[in-house]
Amino acid sequence: MIRIAVFPGSFDPITMGHVDIVNRGLKIFDRIIIGIGNNAEKKYMFPLEKREAWLKKTFNHEARVEVKTYNGLTVDFCKKMNSAFILRGLRNAADFEFEKAIAHMNSGIAPEIESIFVLSELKYGALSSSIIRDIIRNGGNASQFLPDAVQPDTL
Ligand code: ADP
Repeated sequence: MIRIAVFPGSFDPITMGHVDIVNRGLKIFDRIIIGIGNNAEKKYMFPLEKREAWLKKTFNHEARVEVKTYNGLTVDFCKKMNSAFILRGLRNAADFEFEKAIAHMNSGIAPEIESIFVLSELKYGALSSSIIRDIIRNGGNASQFLPDAVQPDTL
């Protein structure tokens, strides 16, 4: 049986932390579908098309990674993709508490889908898209934390 995981997130923008989680996930799963959740209530810094293009460019060399966008519940997207797993990254205890609540709710509504957590590499443990957005908004250079596809001229 092929193991397919969905890695859901906003990726606003994708960071080296996300890349690290996908690379670790590829050791566990045969295929990873990166799902960019499109939530009408949420305000994003970067348009969906840009976030999607950055992800696609970052993983275009990796045939086992696909990038898709979705609306609605992550578990419904998993079912549509024939994925029995949700992959999420953990940086710290706050992430754990947050992710635990989501995973419990998800297993309540879709018990057949398992959430799998992968710890971030130590050097990416303090990295988040929100800090990157702050750096960019204030004119700083965040390129060391971003994959090549998201360099300053693409922002
Ligand atoms: P969301 O809005 O769903 O939290 P994000 O794009 O912020 O979406 O994050 C998607 C996933 O990537 C989450 O599981 C998050 O914990 C994980 N993640 C984000 N940054 C890092 C990082 N630096 N190291 C490990 N995991 C990370």
